[in-house]
Order: sequence, then C-alpha cells, then structure tokens
Amino acid sequence: MSTSADASVAASTAYEPVIGLEVHVQLLTASKIFCSCSTRFGAAPNTNVCPVCLGMPGALPVLNRKAVEFAMLAALALNCRINETSIFARKNYFYPDLPKGYQISQYDKPLAEFGYIEVQTLNTGRTGDHRVKKIGITRLHLEEDAGKSLHEGFPGSDEKTAIDLNRTGVPLIEIVSEPDIATPDEAYEYLTRLKEIILYTGVSDCNMEEGSLRCDANVSVRPRGQKELGTKAEIKNVNSFRFIREALVYEIARQVEVIESGGKIVQETRLYNAHEGKTYSMRSKEQAHDYRYFPEPDLLPLVVDEKWKAEIAKTLPELPEARRARLVKEYGITEYDAQVLTISKALADQFEAAAKAAKSPKRVANLVQSELMGRLKAKGTEIESSPVSMKGVAASADLVESGAISGKMLKDLYDLCFERGKDFPEVYEEEGRPQQSSDTSALEKIIDEILAANPKQLEQYRAGKKTVIGFFVGQVMKASKGQANPQMVNELLVKKLERD
Ligand SMILES: [Zn+2]
Repeated sequence: MSTSADASVAASTAYEPVIGLEVHVQLLTASKIFCSCSTRFGAAPNTNVCPVCLGMPGALPVLNRKAVEFAMLAALALNCRINETSIFARKNYFYPDLPKGYQISQYDKPLAEFGYIEVQTLNTGRTGDHRVKKIGITRLHLEEDAGKSLHEGFPGSDEKTAIDLNRTGVPLIEIVSEPDIATPDEAYEYLTRLKEIILYTGVSDCNMEEGSLRCDANVSVRPRGQKELGTKAEIKNVNSFRFIREALVYEIARQVEVIESGGKIVQETRLYNAHEGKTYSMRSKEQAHDYRYFPEPDLLPLVVDEKWKAEIAKTLPELPEARRARLVKEYGITEYDAQVLTISKALADQFEAAAKAAKSPKRVANLVQSELMGRLKAKGTEIESSPVSMKGVAASADLVESGAISGKMLKDLYDLCFERGKDFPEVYEEEGRPQQSSDTSALEKIIDEILAANPKQLEQYRAGKKTVIGFFVGQVMKASKGQANPQMVNELLVKKLERD
C-alpha cells in the first residue's frame, strides 16, 4: 500500500468520498425508557435491573414520558420535523447483552425526520474561505440501549467474560445523517456542532468516555462525477471525534487503493485501531431486512399533538450559533472570541452574567479579548480552567472603569493571577488593593520636572501646537511607571500650561 498521503491525494482528485454518520446519544433521564430502574452510571453490576429490562417473559414496557420530551427537544434543536405518530418496533437479533433477543427501537415511523445541521466548511475554491454547508439529518428515533459485555471479567473474578445489564433499557436517541458529508474534516465539524447543540439542550451530557455519545461512520468512495454510490463500509466503536477523522482518512485511502488495484469493496463492519491508525474487518454488514423488524405489540403508537410539541418548543434554549451571532452584535467581540465563549452554555452564561453586572459590559468583553485569551493561549490552557473567572474579569473591568487602577496595573495583576493560578479579586487583595496614584502634589512635582526637561516641546505648545500635550502626558505616565491616573495627569497639565 502506498502512503496515506499519496492515497489521499488520489482520493481528492479522482475519487469522491461519501460519508454518513450515525450518532447514539444517551438521554439524561433518571430512569430507563420502559421501566423505573435507575440509569445511574457506575453502579455495581446488575443492580439497576428489573423483570422489564431483563426481558422476563410477560413483563410489560411502559414508555418514559421524559425520554420522549428530551428526544423531542433534541429533534427541534436539530431542525427536525416531529411526526405526529411514531411506532416502536422490535429489532430482532441475538447477542449475549440483549436478553430479550430483540431491541425496542423505531423503524419506518421514527419520532422525527428531515432535520439539518449547519457546518463551516473550507471552500476549496478559495484558500481559507469558509462557507456554511447544511448536512441533512435523515431521522432521529428513540430506542433502548443494550447491556455491556465485560471481556476483562468483573473485578476480583477470573471469569473470562461477564455481562452487566445495568445499561439495558437506558434511553437513547439515534441521529442518522444524510450521506452529505464529503470529507473527514466535515465529519469532525458535524460531530462537534451536533455535540454542542445537544449539550445546549441539556438532554445529554455527551460524555464519550462513559458511552453517552457513540458514533458509527458509513463511508464509500466513487469516481468523481459518478452518480451511483460505491459500496460502503461501516466503522464502529470509535471513541473520539479525532479518531473518527483519522479512521475516515485511513478508510478512504484504503478503499481507493483497493479499487485502483482492481479489487472490490465488500459491505462490512470495520473496527478502528487507534494505536495503529488502521481499520480492520470485523464482520460482514447485516442489511436492515436481516433484523425482521415488526411493530412492538406491547406499546401503543406514540402520538405527539401540536399542544405537546408547542410546550416543548417553548423550553428550547438559544442555540450556540444564534448565541454567537448575538454576542458579536451585543458586546462587539470578535467571531473567534464568541466561538470560544460559547463552547459551553455554562461559560456563555457566566460571561453574560459578568458583563451585565459590570459597569461596562463592553469593557468586560474587551478584557476577555485583550487580557485573557492571549494569556490562556500562551499557557495552553482552556478557558474552562482559566485562573481568572468571568466574575474576576468583571471585577477588574470595574476597577479600570472607576479609575482605581490603570491599564498597566491591570496587566501586571493579570500576570500575577496566571503566575499564582488565582482569580483576580484574590490577587488584588493579596497585593494590598493597589490604587493608581492620584496624589496631586506628587504628580505636580513630576509634571514640573517633565516641563523643565523639555523646553522645546513647551515652546511648541505655547506657540499654539496644543497636540504636544499628548507627548507630556506620555512622559508623565512613564515617569510615574504607569501608576498615575491619565485623566488626572491631563487635567493638571492643562492647568499648568495655561496658567504659566
Ligand atoms: Zn428495569
């Protein structure tokens, strides 16, 4: 096989990748989707179970209303149309962690359809130019999770494989994209935006380590310009967005290589090995009809009327994209900073609360931009673990606004905050609540010295070149080591120059 760089060059010219993503998101309900067992992560194995989620014969499922409402909220946030009637269906397959022998899911009548996510994508026509692309969402449906096979055995046991059924029946939504994604970078972007939107709605914690968000990718390649799709492979169980991007880069190159050397792509499920950066064949991919879907006889059709839908729509928060646009407009911050400040809803809330409580919201935004971002970047720290909190930024902004400290003092205090890993108010106290000098007599002495030392500029001023005052202010500030209050320096200078 040639290097993946060669192959991706080939892929970008002669071949076109077609990517679709399936994302499973665990909903943050307290109880499972069809019984009242707890969904808590990390409980002792097989303690959160009952006859319903264990699949005992005769046990009947009861639909969790909260799970439906969370799914509806996610669907609305993803621009989906919610179907008035959706049907639960049995997806039949045998697996040790699926005690019933079927999973209750939705098939031909899902909860929601026809959504989309907008992603920023690189316009290859003009370098560095971004455009917005809509990635379609085919469907969003509700289903129950299966259990978990622990191939390492339980702690303290030498069993080879054990089953933990705590996760069985935990509510999931599956979000299936259209095959609209053209590059691994677009896939990464789609997942990032999707996760961000879901987090804003609060219906899931999207914790990938705990399996609250899982992603499978379908990928095929076709000669550029060909309408018919190539045979696809499914890449399963990749546990980070970065690995999905890497797995897709590898898989696209592999498929191009197979086709170029006269081989054929087989429809199969592949696993990604992150250590080796390669995908491996796991099993031939089953088709939808292999599952023998049929309507779940123990559950009524799910009916969502307009009133219910409207109630849920009312609880939809402002979503990241809209919030970014508003922050830029309202606080005059850059698009980039708006992006950073909206990484999580909590951070955006903190920023806005601080900005609103401060004397000048605009100054808070300016300080985030001028004092915080650069230092965080230099330190390689994320804004969420910044020593200076948004409250701290607001407090510092007020001190500058009231003239208590100068811009230079503010910079020094921020340096100390980052050195000591402490928030602004704490460092300000530690430094003895420094004030910029407003001691008139001391300032007057400095001004007299500066005027005496610069007779040429003094003459210019007297001759009518009033702008020279800027030079004097600068000199006085320098002599006071930035401690003087510039406004006061200006006033004293004018008084002196006009009087003498
Ligand atoms: Zn249960």
